[in-house]
Amino acid sequence: MNVPARRPLDRIRFVLVETTHSGNIGAVARAMKNMGLRRLDLVSPQQPLDAEAIARASGADDLLAAAQVHPDLVTALAGCRRVIGSSARHRAIAWPLVEPQEAARLLLEEARHGDVALVFGRESSGLSNEELARCHYLAHIPTDPGFSSLNLAAAAQVFAYELRRNWLEEDRAVPVSAPRDLAPVEALEGFFAHLNQTLIDIGFADPDQCGKLARRLRRLFQRAEPDRTELNILRGILSAAQGRKSLGRFARRDAPAAGEE
Ligand code: SAH
Repeated sequence: MNVPARRPLDRIRFVLVETTHSGNIGAVARAMKNMGLRRLDLVSPQQPLDAEAIARASGADDLLAAAQVHPDLVTALAGCRRVIGSSARHRAIAWPLVEPQEAARLLLEEARHGDVALVFGRESSGLSNEELARCHYLAHIPTDPGFSSLNLAAAAQVFAYELRRNWLEEDRAVPVSAPRDLAPVEALEGFFAHLNQTLIDIGFADPDQCGKLARRLRRLFQRAEPDRTELNILRGILSAAQGRKSLGRFARRDAPAAGEE
C-alpha cells in the first residue's frame, strides 16, 4: 500500500527505555503497527532483538528492523518538539499530567509541524524522575490505584489506539471544517429585512412592536452562520409565504421593513 511519507502518525516516536524483555519490544511493535504507527526507538535495550521479539511482533518485524537504538534518552529524543512520558504511578515530581486521550491530542497537534515522542519506562521500575523531567507532560492510564501497572505492550496499545482514534477523527473532520461560503453581512441584512417584512405580511408580527422578536430571530440565524445557498433557500421560503399570505391581523401592504428595535 502506498502510504504518504510524512503523515502525522509517522512523526510520532515510541521510545522504549532499557526494556528488559525482547518479547515486550516485539509486542509494542505489533501494537504500533496495528494502529498505523511505525517509528520505534530503543534506549539501551537489555536483550537483543531475538526470535522472541520477532515472534511477539507477529508480522510487525519491519518496525523492529527499522528501530533505532540509542545510548540514552536525550539522544533518542533529538529533534522532538513535544515529549510525553508515560507513568504507571503518580510521581513525586509535579508535572502536567494528562490521560491518554489528551496525550494523543497533544502529540498529534504538534506532529503536524515536527517530530514528537511518547516515552515508556522499564518493566521493573518505569522511568526515573530525571527521565520524566525531560518530558513536557506525563501521561497516566487511569488504572486501579491498587494495581496500576500495565504490561509495557498493553500500555503502548492504549496510547497507540488513542492516537489512531484521534487521527481518524481529525481526518474525518476535514470536510466539515472545509471553508463554507458563508453569507456576507449585507446578504444577512437583506434576509433579516425580508424576514421581518414577511412576518408582518403574514400577520405574525405587529410592525409597531416587533423589535424584540426581530432581535431573537437575528441571534438565532447568526448563530447558525448560514451560507449563501441556505440563505437563498430561506428567502425563497419567505417569498412563497408572502405570496400566500392570508391578510392577517397585522398585515399592512405598505408596512415598512421592521427594524431591529
Ligand atoms: N513497575 C513500574 C511499571 C512499569 S510498566 C512502575 O511502577 O513504574 C512499564 C511501562 O509501561 C511504564 O514505565 C509506563 O511507560 C507504561 N505503563 C504501565 N502502566 C501504565 C499506566 N497505568 N499508565 C501509563 N503508562 C503505563
